[in-house]
Amino acid sequence: MSDHAIVTGGARGIGAAIAERLTRDGFSVAVVDRLAPEHDFLSEAIEVDLSDAGATRAALEVYCKGRQVTRLVNNAGIVLPAPVEETDPLSIDAVAAVNLRAPLICLQAVLPAMKAAGRGRIVNISSRVALGKELRTAYAASKAGLHGMTKTWALELGRHGITVNAVGPGPIATELFNAVNPPGDPRTDRIVQTIPVKRTGTPGDVAEAVGFFCSEGAGFVTGQVLYVCGGMTIGSA
Ligand code: NAD
Repeated sequence: MSDHAIVTGGARGIGAAIAERLTRDGFSVAVVDRLAPEHDFLSEAIEVDLSDAGATRAALEVYCKGRQVTRLVNNAGIVLPAPVEETDPLSIDAVAAVNLRAPLICLQAVLPAMKAAGRGRIVNISSRVALGKELRTAYAASKAGLHGMTKTWALELGRHGITVNAVGPGPIATELFNAVNPPGDPRTDRIVQTIPVKRTGTPGDVAEAVGFFCSEGAGFVTGQVLYVCGGMTIGSA
């Protein structure tokens, strides 16, 4: 029986590159997204709004039944940028519903299959913004929270052969990035100039790190955060 992998937010952007990588690595990939996938690197498309807890739980439980699901990549994420004075306190809840609550629901749905298999790999896609970034109160809180969840799950699940790690991308040229960092905006130009490798990343750069954490050989690596950021998280701000 071939192993199954679930990639949330895999319809486009970084998630699409992760779906491609895991398909090439031999997994049957299910993409969970509210949009129809823009690529063919999947065996199943599960269309659901991840901010709807009940619908997400139901869809994933149906998918996991009878399947050897041993990989989960919590990649879907949203950003609601705003200066702190204008940050609607409710935006914390809206961002957390997708960036924090959905990963927990997805994890709970795959755990019975992973425990039955006696092995599993969970990868949470966080962000370098977990370390702080202007105009990102709700987003930074959610991604820093995801690091805490990653380490907690690693401690609880290691005894079942399940590893849990996070990949924190730096600026990656996707629709999400371009929407909140418009090309040509002086703030965007400043970001690129401060990246030590002097370029934005590609979705494939992130998929490379996810491929490692999802590999059988990565079984002694858990609870870690790997920044895929062109060196942006080192040195002074
Ligand atoms: P993107 O917007 O291009 O793609 C995100 C995908 O998630 C889309 O397919 C979207 O439909 C899906 N999605 C969002 N909300 C959903 C919901 N409620 N229900 C179902 N699907 C939903 O974003 P991306 O740039 O590819 O980002 C992917 C991940 O990487 C996110 O977690 C993001 O926070 C993180 N990240 C991105 C960057 C970057 O520079 N692009 C940097 C750091 C972290």
